[in-house]
Amino acid sequence: MSKPDISRTKSAELYEKAKTYFPGGVNSPVRAFKSVYGTPLFIEKGDGSHIWDADGNEFIDFCCSWGPLILGHNHPAVREKVTEVMQKGMSFGAPTALENELAELILNNNKYIEKIRFVSSGTEAVMSAIRLARGYTKRDKILKFEGCYHGHSDSLLVKAGSGLVTFGETSSAGVPKAFADETIVVSLDDTKALDGAFAEFKGEIAAVIIEPVPANNGLLLQDKAYLQYLRDICTQNGTMLIFDEVISGFRVGFEGAAAYYGIQPNIITYGKIIGGGLPVGAYGASAEVMDHISPIGSVYQAGTLSGNPVAMAAGIAQLSELLKPGFYDDLHSKTARFVNEVQQFVNERGYPVKLFTIGSIFWFAFTEQERISTAEQIDPASMVKFKEMHRELLNRGIYMGPSGYEVGFISSAHTQEDLEITKTAIFDSLDIVFGK
Ligand code: PMP
Repeated sequence: MSKPDISRTKSAELYEKAKTYFPGGVNSPVRAFKSVYGTPLFIEKGDGSHIWDADGNEFIDFCCSWGPLILGHNHPAVREKVTEVMQKGMSFGAPTALENELAELILNNNKYIEKIRFVSSGTEAVMSAIRLARGYTKRDKILKFEGCYHGHSDSLLVKAGSGLVTFGETSSAGVPKAFADETIVVSLDDTKALDGAFAEFKGEIAAVIIEPVPANNGLLLQDKAYLQYLRDICTQNGTMLIFDEVISGFRVGFEGAAAYYGIQPNIITYGKIIGGGLPVGAYGASAEVMDHISPIGSVYQAGTLSGNPVAMAAGIAQLSELLKPGFYDDLHSKTARFVNEVQQFVNERGYPVKLFTIGSIFWFAFTEQERISTAEQIDPASMVKFKEMHRELLNRGIYMGPSGYEVGFISSAHTQEDLEITKTAIFDSLDIVFGK
């Protein structure tokens, strides 16, 4: 890999143009590099674990399109299957055998759901799951956790107000207060807050939604005992437990966090990996629950491009690779080794940095704390250090998501050589950040 040209002239020019077309120059906010130095890289191509920007700079990529690319970029099996299916047309708005094929791959290898519905994004999957829970329980309120992200539907763009158990406050303009009034927000990892919410809103809570592996606001790993408490309190109150596995699904294992923790939720949502890099989301549950969805049930949900054949093809090819023996063991041990080695360096140097990890996800926390399980425990001031590290890494050919609240992903395409190069870059960057 040659040293990147840090002027990144072409990306900068494209960004200037993009700003005249799109709000903030982007089609999704976090891409705009608002939390780090510089302007966004415009990516031209990706192959395996590497990406190339418009200036021809090569980077080892740990963003991996925010999670979908567990096999890396442009995996031959995915590319070939997509190309084959595309020859026959792009969309029919009628059922295809490919939908059955992807459903079989999932349902035959996942004991936590019996039926599934494909949609086109994680947001849509979660929004539909919430509607299903409300329709099924005939209740309106939902409970979510501070520090979990579930996409941008109205009911979920809600953050905690003040106090232990709170009605949410909208976290975006344009969300009616009436929506936020139906969303209760509590802290993660706090059984008392849960008890309080269920006592205060007895018989009113349709669903509790959680990222069982909260990975959108740092990596806020929860104890199994806490998730079990959540399961039990939902069961006792006739409330549906929704695991939002848009990130953790097919990532911490083929059966996601449900299997990782051995906990049966009522509904599970998926996205990202399930589509092999194309726009797919899904939600699944028992057959009895799923049969409340239209056309046989009274909960309406639909989509022009739902189950799109090209997207199904990508999902089929990608998930087939994940089912090969040893896939997850290799990926997870590679990640654990990498994280341990970086942590060891950091400890030897005495830097206040802790890497949190699960499966092939990792998160750099600039902290001395051994455990961070709630959003409130993250010190916003620590993000300055991430920002500095991000710039140093980028200038050394390492691409991480452009925010210290984002996790990194390792794919099966990352080689030992990639990880060695990355470690050296991290060590050099941290020495600069901490002024050694
Ligand atoms: N849920 C979770 C847990 C997510 O991580 C995301 C996306 N980061 C979403 C929902 C929304 O998915 P999408 O961006 O595909 O709409």
